[in-house]
Amino acid sequence: MASRYLEPLIERRSRAAMTRWQSERLRAQVRHAAAHSPFYGRKFRAAGVKPAGIRGLDDLARLPFTTKDELKENQAARPPWGDVLAVPLAEVLRVHLTSATTGRALAFLDTCEDWHGFYHSYARSLHAFGVRKTDMVMAAFSYGPWIGYWSGFHAAQDLGCLVFPAGGLSTDQRIDTLLTYPITVLGCTPSYALFLAEHAARKGIDLAKDTKIRITWHTGEPGASIPATRARIEAAFGARAYDLPGLTEIAAWGFECEARSGLTHVHEDYVYPEVLDEQDRPVGPGGRGELVFTSLYRKAMPLIRYRTRDVVQVADRKCPCGRTLVALEGGVQGRLDDMKKIRGIIVYPRRIEELVRPHAGVDEFQIVFRRHEGLDEIVVRIDPSPSLSPAEHAGLRERLGESLRTGLGLRAGVEITEPGALPRWDHKARRVVDERTEVPF
Ligand SMILES: [Zn+2]
Repeated sequence: MASRYLEPLIERRSRAAMTRWQSERLRAQVRHAAAHSPFYGRKFRAAGVKPAGIRGLDDLARLPFTTKDELKENQAARPPWGDVLAVPLAEVLRVHLTSATTGRALAFLDTCEDWHGFYHSYARSLHAFGVRKTDMVMAAFSYGPWIGYWSGFHAAQDLGCLVFPAGGLSTDQRIDTLLTYPITVLGCTPSYALFLAEHAARKGIDLAKDTKIRITWHTGEPGASIPATRARIEAAFGARAYDLPGLTEIAAWGFECEARSGLTHVHEDYVYPEVLDEQDRPVGPGGRGELVFTSLYRKAMPLIRYRTRDVVQVADRKCPCGRTLVALEGGVQGRLDDMKKIRGIIVYPRRIEELVRPHAGVDEFQIVFRRHEGLDEIVVRIDPSPSLSPAEHAGLRERLGESLRTGLGLRAGVEITEPGALPRWDHKARRVVDERTEVPF
């Protein structure tokens, strides 16, 4: 079982040793940021923080938060990099952009060591999924300035895997590659996994039978941590699917392990996680709150107490794998930015996906928030599988309506479209349509 862990001394480190490591890294990061990042120099002065007074994790709460809006404003005011940058530009090796849905993307810079930290922690995750150097890997993310492709590629290479560079290929070319070469591991967004499988099926190809894929990993969206979505991906590929949550600004910070306990481990030697309630107080085991990260390794852009806007739940049980790394229950449970309030009830699109996916005969779906005669309502549009006869649509509508009513605690409409009518997503999906002119909260 020795090979279960890539780095047993870190993955099974005692709590006392981990706290010592984190405190030491935090002290160094705060001193580095205060001395070399004009952005953090200003922030610390404004908050009255003396870097020498930050001696360890116990002092963390005295440090101010960093938000994505602040970083965006900073780069807009001081283009193109802003002044978070805490190393000379000559020391910078890589630039990646965040995937912005609105406004300009953030540019993130890394030194050679920063970049090693990003992909090496990612490699530790791949190892936990069971990926070994004997595997051949395809990273099917977009080839461009986004970190998904590059980090997946370098992480697999870090383990010694043969990696097929599939970033710039079309879906047809990727399917052809999977049929031609002995590729055993595939990385992509969960939406793309389902898109790829549907596309292959239309060509009469069964990816579960006709390829050698045994492991898939998924990032960019939380789909693979939703049991019914994961089950669909696993059936389509005849493989085990794993969730790998990450943030360009922080790290590929988490991973599920082979024990498949439903827990997400955090690479807390690279990033220190806080989970905070609405009053910014730390929650205890079992508690839910916003995930806030402090980078313990990046020198170019050393983000401190960065508000991720991701809602997570701290685990209150141990994972049978034996790792001592802090764990979360089921990955990212929701995004504060995606939260909707309908007739006083908070609804996350992820929860709707959890309720929709277990129903057979649903190929794609869309969530519509709209206002009808002054009342907010949710409609879930279903793109039915062509194998479902029109006579079966009424039954599906009824069963799904009941799942949504009990699962959300409010009534939601269900509409069935023509098969193939809804958009498919070859990267991150945008399944939510908010037709309301004003958001009532
Ligand atoms: Zn585990």
